[in-house]
Amino acid sequence: MPTLPPHALKAVTHLIARRMGSEETEAAQVADHLVRANLAGHDSHGVGMLPTYVRLLHAGLLVPNQTAETVLDAGALLVIDARRGYGQRMAADAVRRAISRSKEIGACVLAFRNSSHIGRIGTYAELAAAEGCAFTAFVNVADHHDVQATYQAAEPRLGTNPFCAAVPGPDGPAVMLDMATTTIAAGKARVAYNKGVPVADGCLIDASGNPTNDPTGFIRDHTGALRAFGTHKGSGLAVMCEIMASAVAGGQGAFHQAKGGVLNSMLATIIDLSKLGDPDKIAADIQAVKSHVKSARPGPGFDEVLTPGEPEKRTTAKRTEQGIEVDDTTWRDIRAAAETLGITAAEFDQTVGANRA
Ligand code: NAD
Repeated sequence: MPTLPPHALKAVTHLIARRMGSEETEAAQVADHLVRANLAGHDSHGVGMLPTYVRLLHAGLLVPNQTAETVLDAGALLVIDARRGYGQRMAADAVRRAISRSKEIGACVLAFRNSSHIGRIGTYAELAAAEGCAFTAFVNVADHHDVQATYQAAEPRLGTNPFCAAVPGPDGPAVMLDMATTTIAAGKARVAYNKGVPVADGCLIDASGNPTNDPTGFIRDHTGALRAFGTHKGSGLAVMCEIMASAVAGGQGAFHQAKGGVLNSMLATIIDLSKLGDPDKIAADIQAVKSHVKSARPGPGFDEVLTPGEPEKRTTAKRTEQGIEVDDTTWRDIRAAAETLGITAAEFDQTVGANRA
């Protein structure tokens, strides 16, 4: 299992994105996003997504260097259709526009439609937090076979539909909740399958609707489903993500016919906190909430109470120093995907080797 420094993974991702046709800025954005997802501990949304992106490219379902369509630009309302563009760039560009609008008038509601996979939603929350903005996003996943079984269902009807909310702090978001509404993200079942390990109890059901820990059917045969987290409440949030991103924001829905791509749509709200009130008081109160929550006595088996976003910050610090482990199957799949783009094994190895030290 290779353990690589972040810049080596970034270099190889950049090479693949360039060979997929992305111009320099887009390739750099994709590489930065994917490696930062690995750094944060979300291997499900890191470089392991590259084989999927290459497959989508070959199928004409991901469009590098796409120009987004501004469907509506009216004060606090911004509607952008990404037209299957490379998600990491399309979503970052759209969120940056929404941030600058919120800096002008206080807030912006962004309806962002039909982007190829936008990856880790927290990346966009971090952009907003860096500018002193609060960020909330309801996201759906469409154009793909259904993977999420809602509460009481024996078969899937939704995607993993992530929800994200974050507030700014002194070094990145002070608190950032960034999660799939399934018990685990689909990519985590893929990572478990690639490593040949079971998934935790309560995450998966098999084709008959019974609980299972074996990700094989789900990943290899597309049978069974990921369960919504938190029984009826998590399931309800997943349904609202679907409604907000498809019906309200106007993106493709899970109810539309799928072509086998991965399309994300998102209804995001960005608020410039300096326009809402005294930013110092808001920042102090955010810290007060955090400290109050963390001051609780840890439960049996735990050393401390964490707030959302803390695990990612810790993992980022650790992996920045120690490198990122990529499991053998994922590494082999990335190499095979690179080969379909005409990247030779020698070029691949040279790119990794030159950045390994
Ligand atoms: P996760 O379950 O690892 O974490 C979810 C949230 O819980 C995070 O905010 C994390 O900080 C917090 N958390 C974790 N452990 C905690 C603890 N002990 N105490 C307090 N808080 C804790 O994440 P996930 O649901 O597997 O999602 C992984 C990533 O997948 C996210 O970045 C998400 O945006 C992404 N995703 C993207 C898509 C897409 O289609 N683009 C779909 C689904 C998920």
